[in-house]
Amino acid sequence: MMLPTHALAGMALALPLFAVAPELAPVGLVAGLLGGIVPDLDMYAGHRKTLHYPVYYSVAAVPATLSALVFPSAATVAATLFLLGAALHCVSDVFGSGLELRPWEGNSTRAVYDHFRGRWIAPRRLIRYDGSPEDLLLSVGLALPLIYAVGAPFQGVVIAALAVAVAYTLLRRTLAELAPVVANLLPAAVRQYVPDRYLPEVDAAVSRRSR
Ligand SMILES: [Zn+2]
Repeated sequence: MMLPTHALAGMALALPLFAVAPELAPVGLVAGLLGGIVPDLDMYAGHRKTLHYPVYYSVAAVPATLSALVFPSAATVAATLFLLGAALHCVSDVFGSGLELRPWEGNSTRAVYDHFRGRWIAPRRLIRYDGSPEDLLLSVGLALPLIYAVGAPFQGVVIAALAVAVAYTLLRRTLAELAPVVANLLPAAVRQYVPDRYLPEVDAAVSRRSR
């Protein structure tokens, strides 16, 4: 799933707070948003492995949730929503596509790394790829209740995430075509930091294999 969907999903986790503890909703929204985003900060350094912990975030979220229920405070709610947002992100990545330049081709068997079992989890492709029409639909579905429930400045964040989601969905296939071209133009010193899947020679090898 694309980053805006993860960001909106993290924020949506804070929606119940409006019913039970509205004064803690803002801190919950920020923490959920961060939890939804942070795992993808590994985009250029061991993507879906370095900061993706589908098992550990989920396990850590259990005592955090209990502590927030027993001692509701800004600190316990922030920790809980961050961990729940990050856990949801990593687990939902399993239901998307694998790691590859053109995920709609479905060649990759790597969705998310499971540090607990020491292996990659295969993609389920319920959402066929990040930036697919169904991914956008999911973003819209998450944004609607948020726009209704949250006030300013969060409404702005939701609308901005939605705008990025629409633009990314429209440009998704063009971006995949451009990535190897741009990677090829980079100086060698920079190129060594470009993930394999964006390099033209790696891409050509993968395409040959899938033919
Ligand atoms: Zn991710």
